[in-house]
Order: sequence, then structure tokens, then C-alpha cells
Amino acid sequence: MAQQLPIQQIRNIGIIAHIDAGKTTVTERVLYYTGKTYKIGEVHEGTAVMDWMAQERERGITITAAATTSFWSTKLQPAKYQINIIDTPGHIDFTAEVQRSLRVLDGAVVVFDGVAGVEPQSETVWHQADKFNVPRICFINKLDRIGADFEKSLNSILERLTARAVAMQIPIGLEERFEGIIDLLKNKEIRWTNEDGSKYDEKEISAERKAEVAKWRSKSIEKIVEQDDQLLHKYLSGENIEYEDLIKILRTATISGKIVPVFCGSALKNKGVQLLLDAVVHFLPSPIDIPPVKGYAPDNSETELERKADHNEPLCALAFKIASDPFVGTLTFFRVYSGVLKTGTALRNSTRAESERIGRIVRMHAQHREELTEVCAGDIAAAVGLKNTSTGDTLCDPMHQIVLEALSFPDPVISVAIEPKTKADLEKMGIALNKLAQEDPTFKTKTDIQTSQTIISGMGELHLEIIVDRMKREFNVQVAVGKPEVAYKETINKTCEVEGKYIRQTGGRGQYGHVRLKLEPLEKGAGFEFVNKIKGGKIPAEYIPWVEKGVKNAMEKGVLAGYPMVDIRSTLFDGSYHEVDSSNIAFQNAGRIALQDGARKADPTLLEPIMKLEVIVWEEFMGDVLGDLNSKRAKILNMTDRGKNKVIDSEVPLAEMFDYATILRSLTSGRASFTMEFSHYAEVPYNVREQILNGKIKKE
Ligand code: GDP
Repeated sequence: MAQQLPIQQIRNIGIIAHIDAGKTTVTERVLYYTGKTYKIGEVHEGTAVMDWMAQERERGITITAAATTSFWSTKLQPAKYQINIIDTPGHIDFTAEVQRSLRVLDGAVVVFDGVAGVEPQSETVWHQADKFNVPRICFINKLDRIGADFEKSLNSILERLTARAVAMQIPIGLEERFEGIIDLLKNKEIRWTNEDGSKYDEKEISAERKAEVAKWRSKSIEKIVEQDDQLLHKYLSGENIEYEDLIKILRTATISGKIVPVFCGSALKNKGVQLLLDAVVHFLPSPIDIPPVKGYAPDNSETELERKADHNEPLCALAFKIASDPFVGTLTFFRVYSGVLKTGTALRNSTRAESERIGRIVRMHAQHREELTEVCAGDIAAAVGLKNTSTGDTLCDPMHQIVLEALSFPDPVISVAIEPKTKADLEKMGIALNKLAQEDPTFKTKTDIQTSQTIISGMGELHLEIIVDRMKREFNVQVAVGKPEVAYKETINKTCEVEGKYIRQTGGRGQYGHVRLKLEPLEKGAGFEFVNKIKGGKIPAEYIPWVEKGVKNAMEKGVLAGYPMVDIRSTLFDGSYHEVDSSNIAFQNAGRIALQDGARKADPTLLEPIMKLEVIVWEEFMGDVLGDLNSKRAKILNMTDRGKNKVIDSEVPLAEMFDYATILRSLTSGRASFTMEFSHYAEVPYNVREQILNGKIKKE
């Protein structure tokens, strides 16, 4: 039995927003109107269906990206449309989650607070969506709130995000008098007629609003007809433009990113969300409207391959999220890009070169799970109990293998030591940490060999706080948490050539490994490169991977203070071997010795994570905030006005930013807010470096 609608009737969307803009409430209403929840839940009452985890409810933020399926039809498109909502987090500490969801969704609804307009994190997620070419529509929410201003919010989108935003609606009244919406394309007034906002009627524009509506309408329509010569011609010659034509052109323009349609309403007061759903169907792309997915052959990363969103293509799917479900256990959410994924068939995890078989597939609805036996191209579902597949892995047809571009995540920038409170906690801690790390690729855990402490690392203080909290709630593991530490790195500033010898002659069989390496600094963020330039079999090919292994191992512990080394190219250009005494281990050791010696000679240096910080503060506290930032080695990039507030954009070393929330609160009596995200690694200034290195030496 066909379990899927035609692919044109699928929408994979994300709802993205600044924290508190109303993403959860909008999602909740979407699930209500699409008929999958029985009762409208209030976020503040903690019953919102998308917020699965108890702790998310408490904090009011959504951390995990799960996918929920619902269905919708519009008057214009009465067929049944399947909307898969990929949940995206609002907090910037979870950028990895935002990124991975952007990767698998085809279009997004960006929610704004109609009082605040564009907020710092809306800019961050907007730019991320740009990076992934995600077509978008906007929803200016909370128009019922005191201080709501549609025009100002729209202008903030136009000024700060995109000049391509075009109003599709304007509100009738604002704040407590927000009573309806004018649909500019239909040229109708829309008012809701029942409490839950599921019914509304459309009326002609009233006389007193005619002039204003005409102004808005012609501005929007001009922007749309500009996209199509025929329509433009018609418009210029004064002919009437059909509503259906406008919608058609708008769809194309939205998908190509030429126009970003803007809608409005109040999710809390049940106004505007159904019209937003209509817009999702009308304007956001289906899986066939976006370019085919790209990847490469598993045995040859040079060969680019492509898969079209078509049921008849060979199967390929991407696992984008692993979540623990209290009822079914581990769920691996995946998107099928091409072909059909069926339960019980043999699959290939081409990322790991392993076989995989899927026993059970479920589709998650707001209130129930649906068992499926197959999932077709373009659709999203979750596999139960997969053992070998992690986030970012490709699953494909064993006869037609492809590895999809891996999801890339930044390395953690902050770490803390944790200690189990009791012996029972110790036993469970390992399992909890493994599970959490499997779910979240920006969360890492390791044991410090010197102190035997467990170290957890992530993308910010809040990220780690939440991990510790989840350990307690979901796994019942209590830990004591140490002071956070910055994840420094080491690199080199100079190029050098160096020799590494590992030669032992102790009775019996000796050891002989001899290499010559050239070390060169790479640009920041480039990582590690190993180049083999051995000619004429000076070192037999079988030993070369072992030299690389030795070099890589040595890079894990830098020569200055033991921090991992990065951004180095090492070129193996010479060496020698011994017929009898050479071995894998000898060459591995020679590689290690060469790298360590070389790094010492190549002007080693320390790198620290630099954060992008935006502080929004009342004018009278601006001086105090700036003074404090200056004492924190901040580089002030920009200062602007936003309404009555000042906005300070800066770059600050993470090392200076611990507990900034508390500091800022006391500096400004709570009249400031900030957002911070990782930007890049930069060299630590000499005087600070000495302090760090001395501290380090003392500690050991
Ligand atoms: P999220 O952090 O973006 O998921 O935002 P939530 O949906 O949790 O909403 C944050 C707060 O704003 C909650 O207290 C909501 O009740 C409230 N809220 C959401 N939408 C509206 C709205 O349309 N009007 C008003 N007045 N409040 C809203």
C-alpha cells in the first residue's frame, strides 16, 4: 500500500526564531489546527507538545530537533499536503542543532516578536539559513502585545535581514485591539469568528481603510509582478491581475529566494496561524523543487554523485538526529533523498562502510507514532533501534553507494570536569555520557589521563549546564561540576624541516623508522593535512599510513601546554628503511618524534576561542558595559541604536566571558541582554599566553 502522498505534496519545514519569539506557540497551534492535538496547550503551562523533555518545558526552550508530521489543505490547493515539521532550537548554544535541521529541511518559517522585531539571534539563524539556501517566509507574531508594531518589525527585517521581504498581510488594529488581518493579495479583511481561531470570514475592505490598504497592496504587488515579464506588462497596462497568477509567481520567487513573503498574527490569540499554514503549502518548496542532493562515491571522494528526489532512483538517506524516546528507545531520524527505504531490507551505511538493516520505522505525529513499512524519497521518519548509525551518516542501496556531504560541526570550545557524587552515579555516568554524545555531535566527553577526571566539552556554559541537568533528569546521575575551562589549541607560526628517527638495536630484532617532514602553518580553521611526497620507494608504501598515524597522534598533545595542535600541514618528503628492522610501530614512532621536534622549532603558539558577542543595553548603562568589555580584551566592532537601546557588537575571548550573565546583570541592574556564539580561534597575546602557560605549569 502506498504510504506516501505524491512528492509535490510534501513540505519539510522548520520553524526558526529567536528564543521567546513564539516558535513553540506557533508550532503548537500548527499541530492543533492540523488536527493532531486535542487541546490547545499553553507554553507557560508546560503542555506544549513539541517540548518533549521535562527540562525543556521548564526552561521554555526547545533543544532537540525532532520531526513531527501533520496534514493540511488550502482552499486554493484542496489536495492533502503533508507537512513535516523539523523542530529547531532557539538558543544559540545549540547552533549544531540548528544547522543539522537546516540541512534536512526544504523551507523555513521565521518567527519574529512583533514588539522587538529582528533580534540578534534572528540574524544568526537567518545567516545560517542563507548558507544552506533555505527558502523562507516570515511571521511577525505577538501583534496583540503592548508595544507591537508591524511596520517597525517589517522595517527591521528589511534593514537588517533582507531587502527582499514583501508584506503579504497587514494587521487590523494592534495590541489589545488587534482584531484581524488584511490579506493584501486577496484584498480582503479577515476576522476570526470563534474562540480557537479555526473559523474566519473574509470581507471587502472597509471604506476607512481603503486608501491605506491600496498603498500597501500596490507596493507588494509591484514587487511580485517584477518577477515575471508577462505579468509586469499586464500590470503596467492597467489590466487586472488574477490572484492565482500572483500566487504562482510568488511561489517561484520564494523558492528561488527572490522574495521573502511576510505574514503576521498572534499565535497566542489564535490569529493568523492557519493563513501561515496556507502559505507553507503555497510558497515553500516540495522536495522536488530543490536541487538534487550531492555526495561522492565511498571509495573516491573526487567523484561527485547526485541523487534526484525520485522514488525510482537508488535509495539514499541521511541520518540527521538521534533521540532517546522513553517508549521505543533509540530513534534515528532520517530523511530519504532518493528511492524508497523499506523495513527488513539490507542497507549500507556508506559513511562507516558497514551493513545496516532497519527493522521498524515510525512516523512521529504530535500525539502518536505511526508504524511504516516504507519511506519514499522526500519524506522524513525515524528508525527504531539502529546500532551502527550515527548523526550525519548516509544510508544507501548497497549496489549504488553514495556518501552524502557530512554535516559539519564546530569543535567544542569549553569544558568542565565532572565527578560522580556516589558509586552508583559512577556506574551510570558512562552510559549517560555516551548516549548524550551520540545525540549531540558538539558535545564531547573524555577522561583526563593525568587526573583521571571525566571532562565534558561543548559550545558554551549553558550547553554544558543543560547536559548536566539532563544527566540528572533522564539518567538519574548526579555529578559535581568543576570550573569551566577554555579549549585552547596550539599551532605553529613558522615553516620548518625536521627529521624523526626511531632506531633501536637491542638484541634480537631491532627497530628502524626514519622520516623527514616539512611542517607548515595553515590558515586558521584549516585543520590538519598530511601530504606524502616519497618517491622511489625510499619508504615502502605500507609504512606511510603509520607515519601519518604517528603525526596525528602527536598532534593531539601540543608541545607548549599539551593542548591539541591544529592548522598544520606535514609533508613527508624523505626517509629511509631497513629490510629487517623496519616495522609499522617504528615508523609511527618516527612520525611522532618528527612532529614533536618540528613543532618546537616552528615557533609554536597558543590559540583561544573568540566569541561574537552582542549586548543590548539601556543607554545610561552603555559606558559601564563598554568599560567592562575593554577590561575583557574585547574588540568593539560596532555600536548602533535600536529604539531606545544601544547595541554593542564585539569579539571577546571566551576565557574572559565566564559567568557574563551575572556580571552584566549586576552592571546594569538587569537592563541589558546579550547573545554570544563561537566565532573563530585566534592567537593568544604574548602576555596572556605567559600567564596561561605559567598557570598550567603550576597546576601540574
Ligand atoms: P519560543 O521560545 O520561541 O519557543 O517561544 P514560546 O512559544 O515559548 O513563547 C514565548 C512566550 O511568548 C510565551 O510566554 C508565550 O505564551 C508568549 N507568546 C507566544 N506567542 C505569543 C503571541 O502571539 N502573543 C503574546 N502576547 N504572547 C505570545
